[in-house]
Amino acid sequence: MEKEVRVRFAPSPTGPFHIGGARSALFNWLYARKMGGKLILRIEDTDLERSSKESEENIKAALKWLGIMWDEGIDVGGPYGPYKQTERLDLYRKYTDQLLADGKAYYCYCTDEELEAERQELMAHSQMPRYMGKCRHLTQEQIEAYQKEGRKPTVRFRVPAGEQIVVHDLVRGDVVFESDGIGDFVIVKSDGIPTYNYAVVIDDALMQITHVIRAEEHLSNTPRQCLLYDALGFEKPVFGHISLILGKDRSKMSKRHGATAVEQYKKLGYTSAGLVNFLALLGWSPNSEQEIFTTEELINAFSMDHVAKNPAVFDLDKLNWINQQYVRKLSDEDFFALAIPHLQAAGFMAAEETEERVAWLKKVVLTSRAHVSYGAQIAEFVAMYFTDEFTFENKEAEAVLCEETVPQVMKMLEEELEKLEVLDALTVKAVFKRVQKALKLNGKQVFMPIRIALTGNQHGPELAEMIPLFGLERTFKRINASLKKAGVSIE
Ligand code: GLU
Repeated sequence: MEKEVRVRFAPSPTGPFHIGGARSALFNWLYARKMGGKLILRIEDTDLERSSKESEENIKAALKWLGIMWDEGIDVGGPYGPYKQTERLDLYRKYTDQLLADGKAYYCYCTDEELEAERQELMAHSQMPRYMGKCRHLTQEQIEAYQKEGRKPTVRFRVPAGEQIVVHDLVRGDVVFESDGIGDFVIVKSDGIPTYNYAVVIDDALMQITHVIRAEEHLSNTPRQCLLYDALGFEKPVFGHISLILGKDRSKMSKRHGATAVEQYKKLGYTSAGLVNFLALLGWSPNSEQEIFTTEELINAFSMDHVAKNPAVFDLDKLNWINQQYVRKLSDEDFFALAIPHLQAAGFMAAEETEERVAWLKKVVLTSRAHVSYGAQIAEFVAMYFTDEFTFENKEAEAVLCEETVPQVMKMLEEELEKLEVLDALTVKAVFKRVQKALKLNGKQVFMPIRIALTGNQHGPELAEMIPLFGLERTFKRINASLKKAGVSIE
């Protein structure tokens, strides 16, 4: 029987949860779902100074928001817990004792200053900085002398000399490393806390992880981890290192390229389904031209064979396009719900609003649907409904109001609008037609001055829809103010 696929996502809770982490989590999740396996969520919090509960909560909340649910791990439990590294220290200690007893690891008493001096020395001679093994063969007297000085030792792994380490990688094929390039590395720090490379191996082995799918930046750690698997007598998992994420300018994705934290995208009002769809395409491509995928389709189509070696480029325009497809499919209710926090942040909506005002807000919001990619854009798009202060976008716009036919158009518009019993897009459209016909003008001669007088702009949403939303009083107020500004008199 084939072994059950067990993959894991193992974030360090040391700051905002980045797009890159979300992408790793997603690939693992898709792979687990595709293979009928399990996703394990493990918290790697051995960096005591930088780890925080807040960051851990943030990661879990973001994963849940994205719909990346884990089958085993922190909070949900499972047979291989605890799933947080700082709760597993006794376990690591057991293996450290074994490595020390077998002579595969040793105590190192070098101070930070000594190590730094060694680094500088090697670099001055153009050699790769690495630990040269000063404490490899300490005598009992030397050890006692160091202990007397009060030095607290680290534990280093004794790297075998002259070995080739071949990492079999699902994405990159076989990658060969030389053990001679790796100095004896620290596996337990002087405070007794294991390092990442050490804890990760013990955890992945004990948690029966079959596939380690993670970011490319960990490829260079993998030979160290392979040595540890061998030394501890563990079977190695299959590795798959997914490519870096670059900005559009091909430098490493950073704040300069826009938002990097998942939370920021949530705050901006992206849909989780849109973001998941976009993240899936960051480094993986389907066997087709398809770009919009339901979760089920992603699971079915996903395979590690189509994960690319080359860096993935984070294209915000593409994210916006993809998210727009999702935003367009939202129900009116959901679209309005997406807008609410942004309307509130802009001061367009209070915590408590009358039913009538909510109905109006909803209508206003829905006018933006075809024009926006994410929630924050809705508030920008509808901002004009919340103030009667505006300016002409340029001289050209203002000049349109000075055309000869404008006073007649405006006069008749006002009269005809006043006569309406029902004010909606249809009745307003009919008014435009009547004006056009009566004054023998073309469409543009009617719409353009009205649009500019009403909004200051030559372009914008459907005019006949805007007027009912402003209502007659505000429509006339706005138009008259614009005409006055442009020095046009209707009388
Ligand atoms: N804690 C590591 C990180 O967040 C995990 C790396 C791995 O997946 O092995 O980068």
